[in-house]
Amino acid sequence: MNRVEGKVAVVTGGASGIGRATCLLLAKEGACVAVTDIAEKEGRGLVEEITEKGGKAEYWHLNVTQEASVKQVVSEVREKWGKIDILVNNAGIVGINKPTHEIAEDEWNELMAINVNGVFLCTKHVLISMLETGGGSIINLSSVYGLVGGPDMPPYHASKGAVRLMSKTDALLYAKNKIRVNSVHPAFIWTPLVEKLLAEQGDVAEGRKILDSLHPVGHMGEPDDVAYGILYLASDESKFVTGSELVIDGGYTAH
Ligand code: NAD
Repeated sequence: MNRVEGKVAVVTGGASGIGRATCLLLAKEGACVAVTDIAEKEGRGLVEEITEKGGKAEYWHLNVTQEASVKQVVSEVREKWGKIDILVNNAGIVGINKPTHEIAEDEWNELMAINVNGVFLCTKHVLISMLETGGGSIINLSSVYGLVGGPDMPPYHASKGAVRLMSKTDALLYAKNKIRVNSVHPAFIWTPLVEKLLAEQGDVAEGRKILDSLHPVGHMGEPDDVAYGILYLASDESKFVTGSELVIDGGYTAH
């Protein structure tokens, strides 16, 4: 209990899947949580749920690709709670699944705008705040797709590889400022993102079985499996941990 008591957290893409589980857990463990997303109804619903359980949360509409909005939300969270201790760069999409020679430039750029530029913009403005208030912890959602290659989703792989090294560079740049930056690398986690991916490919139940079988433990992960890792990196329990990669993958990359 109270593992992040008194801390202020901003979670991007907080309304669904891993982001939603993270908001619930951080609030349960005592943080004030800024649930940010473009999915207004789900985001506001989540804030209600957290508040009913006795937690502290508020919703901000935030498209991570829009720098002016990012700056505005960071400033409003600071105004409300005085500081930002934790940033979870979680918003992300899978994008198109075509071989490289068939991808249009717009398709590539659309994914990069969210998965890479979004991480950059949120990190930039939260860093400015953390430098003023004396430190913090930034957690970036990469993926096992940012650690190993695969014959699918080239832009997604590229984006998650970029996030992995953005985390290490920022960890080195800001270690002296007491700002820690780490990346998290989940394998397949059962969320709306994966369900949509399978629906686009055909039979969801059949697809789920195939994805389950890719993990040595025999099944996909759950959002909470990742949220607990994020909680650790957000809390002071991980005060000596920066520039690291937390792999949460049921053995997917252990081969
Ligand atoms: P999800 O689709 O359930 O949730 C993503 C959230 O991001 C949604 O609420 C969506 O509205 C929001 N979002 C999308 N575009 C946005 C934008 N421009 N600005 C702000 N918010 C935006 O996805 P998830 O499975 O929970 O994935 C969360 C993160 O974890 C992503 O970065 C994803 O790449 C990463 N990840 C997921 C898995 C998995 O198997 N689910 C595995 C590895 C990594």
